[in-house]
Amino acid sequence: VSASSALIAHVEARRADILDFTRELIAAPSPTPPGDERAVAHRVLHRLDGLGLTGSRTVGPRAERPSVLWTLAGTGKGRRIVLNGHLDTKPVGDTSHWLTDPFVATECDGQLYGLGSSDMKGAVAAMVYAAAAVRDVLGPLRGDVTLALTADEEGGCADGAAYLLEHQLVEADAILIGEPAGMTREWEWLYVVSRGLTAVKVRVYGTQMHSSISDILPSVNASTRMAWVLDRMARTFSIPAPAHPYCQQGVTVNPGVTVRGGVQYGVTPGYAEFGTDIRIPPGVSLDDVRQALDAFFIRLRSEMPDLQATWEFEPPPLEWMPPTEIAVDDSLVRAVVSAAEQVLGQAPPFGTFPGGTEAAFYQGRAGIPCLPAFGPGFLPICHGPNEHVGVESIIQAAKMYAIAAAQAAG
Ligand SMILES: [Zn+2]
Repeated sequence: VSASSALIAHVEARRADILDFTRELIAAPSPTPPGDERAVAHRVLHRLDGLGLTGSRTVGPRAERPSVLWTLAGTGKGRRIVLNGHLDTKPVGDTSHWLTDPFVATECDGQLYGLGSSDMKGAVAAMVYAAAAVRDVLGPLRGDVTLALTADEEGGCADGAAYLLEHQLVEADAILIGEPAGMTREWEWLYVVSRGLTAVKVRVYGTQMHSSISDILPSVNASTRMAWVLDRMARTFSIPAPAHPYCQQGVTVNPGVTVRGGVQYGVTPGYAEFGTDIRIPPGVSLDDVRQALDAFFIRLRSEMPDLQATWEFEPPPLEWMPPTEIAVDDSLVRAVVSAAEQVLGQAPPFGTFPGGTEAAFYQGRAGIPCLPAFGPGFLPICHGPNEHVGVESIIQAAKMYAIAAAQAAG
């Protein structure tokens, strides 16, 4: 506890610097697409140097996709802990819905507004200062403490987390990801499960011909057929999921997240397609999804015998991003619970992050236990206008990351 008090005091003394650093990160645009984290990575490297955290490096497949790595090397006998956050954001989209400049962090009523504030530049700033606190207050621990600040999370991770794994650049025994823990209020959940994802394309065929005679000659309009299939999927398609103590949400099906079809005015459409994303809780396999889709299409053909429609999984990685789950008695989870009790007064309940995270790679592919989301901010306002994060939450995050990393690697 005395170590925790010293870490808390270290962070508290740097409150203004942490917020200033968050503002700097927000001022360095890093939208994916197109995907260019050079400016924001440069700010991080500069800040690490300024804090005396030397030896950081950038890695990535191309100059414009840097991920930043820094390690406080341990004395060799402890668990290797990674604090992981992503440097990119979604594109800003229509700025007319923003009340402030999305690249000028603006404080109002205890909230800091700006693109990437919740998702997740506030958490990145907190992680950097947590690492500085651990280094300054405790020095080397038994295990390594590593900062992995990644590119390309919003674009599917190929140039970020997946690249790091392929090139053995992340060696870890447990990873804490700082995606936002808030749904309706901050620090609402301690997410131990991250749902998976699969993406399905449905193709529907018709009769392409001169549209002026579609009521004279027998023909099938692929677009209206597709609309029927889409509607049937929205109304009647579901996949059962087994009960799970920390995941109440089950499977979420979103038919028609993409829709495409037809040729031009004057042409009866011969082809139309739509995409469906399916969010996967623990206990549901790719084979379960396949069987449910096959059964659904058999049902459709019994209702419409001349239906010509097929379905397929999208190519990897969208074919299957597995759900992940860290054991609640994992020492990293216990360290985060303890840190939350010390900083927030009590630990939030265990829960399930509704979306995918880099845990699908770190844990799904490489088997490294991942706490998928424990960070400042709110998920519902991410990827939209007027994104914001609680100022106090960023400071709390830095304190909790420092205490948790020190305990888990110590
Ligand atoms: Zn994120």
